[in-house]
Amino acid sequence: MTTPSDPILLTPGPLTTSARTKEAMLRDWGSWDSDFNQITGRLREQILRIVHGEATHECVPLQGSGTFSVEAAIGTLVPRDGHVLVPINGAYCQRIAKICGYLNRRLSTYEYTESEQIRAADIDRLLKEDPSITHVALVHCETGTGVLNPLDEIAQVVARHGRGLIIDAMSSFGAIEIDARTTPFDALIAASGKCLEGVPGMGFVIARRTVLEQCAGNSHSLAMDLYDQWVYMRKTTQWRFTPPTHVVVALDTALQQYWEEGGLAARGGRYARNCQALIDGMAELGLNTFLDHAVQAPIIVTFHAPDDPNYDFKTFYQEVKRRGYIIYPGKLTQIETFRIGCIGHFGEAGIPGAVAAIREALTSMGVQLGRTATVA
Ligand SMILES: *Cc1c(COP(=O)(O)O)cnc(C)c1O
Repeated sequence: MTTPSDPILLTPGPLTTSARTKEAMLRDWGSWDSDFNQITGRLREQILRIVHGEATHECVPLQGSGTFSVEAAIGTLVPRDGHVLVPINGAYCQRIAKICGYLNRRLSTYEYTESEQIRAADIDRLLKEDPSITHVALVHCETGTGVLNPLDEIAQVVARHGRGLIIDAMSSFGAIEIDARTTPFDALIAASGKCLEGVPGMGFVIARRTVLEQCAGNSHSLAMDLYDQWVYMRKTTQWRFTPPTHVVVALDTALQQYWEEGGLAARGGRYARNCQALIDGMAELGLNTFLDHAVQAPIIVTFHAPDDPNYDFKTFYQEVKRRGYIIYPGKLTQIETFRIGCIGHFGEAGIPGAVAAIREALTSMGVQLGRTATVA
């Protein structure tokens, strides 16, 4: 199904999916059909199983891209008089803060530089100082740079203070271990088109059952009300409004392949090998990572752009694309960077192939290899 001219996406969603996952979409389904609703049911169970949340949590899927589910989670879980603390070390943390503004939820932020991890000790102090904070909203892997934040440490602190934790685990879910039995959280958000290697179009929120039960009437929006979606789905087995049927069956097929591969350990292991091969290969070209190795998640890597007058990202992008790979622009404002994803369905040859394409692309542009920018 992937034709020779289809490029490999080295982007953190949408990403490259398998032929089997794409083939699952060649059939139409009715939203009332019991076979389809069975698929929704088993999808929700499997998603819970990935975080061992069967006994304590509920999986509520929602139509739309990942951000829709983040917004729905904040709007449903945080009461209108709630107060959200958002520690910020990148673009996706910023997006959560923006959502709080749109939803009129009281917001406090705490800022880090984009190469730093969020620190549990800071959260501890901030929660001690301000008892009015009801929730902490944390991004697990900050996809804007690739930083991995110390989720478990922060979750323990938030729980000790008796506040709620909402985790944007969009780009880590399914590849980096999160265990609901030992890492306490009220809600965790992810989506179909990231590490589960489905196609984009639906997100899901894994919410603590006892918390979700208290969430009637919090949401500002009918379409984004996860409580209502949950109650309706429990009663009817159906989605409240038109489900993204093809996305659902593609995710179901992608999950079968996830278990066949060996689940989280195998998926995370493959991405870690991709990440290491990428960093090593790029280092040989003189291209260095923006982050220290110690804080780098094996999901997406930010590289300094070559410090060369012949370099410009748009040309570089097109030259790499002509050679079969789609890369990603940087998201930093101060420093010129680009990003390369380590996730998606491509074989062990994918990363070496991409590094070779990057070498050729830069050479064709007259960029001298072995020279890179230093941190500004
Ligand atoms: C991909 C992603 C999202 C969702 O982005 P969409 O563009 O709505 O799919 C949210 N948070 C993080 C950390 C992500 O990587």
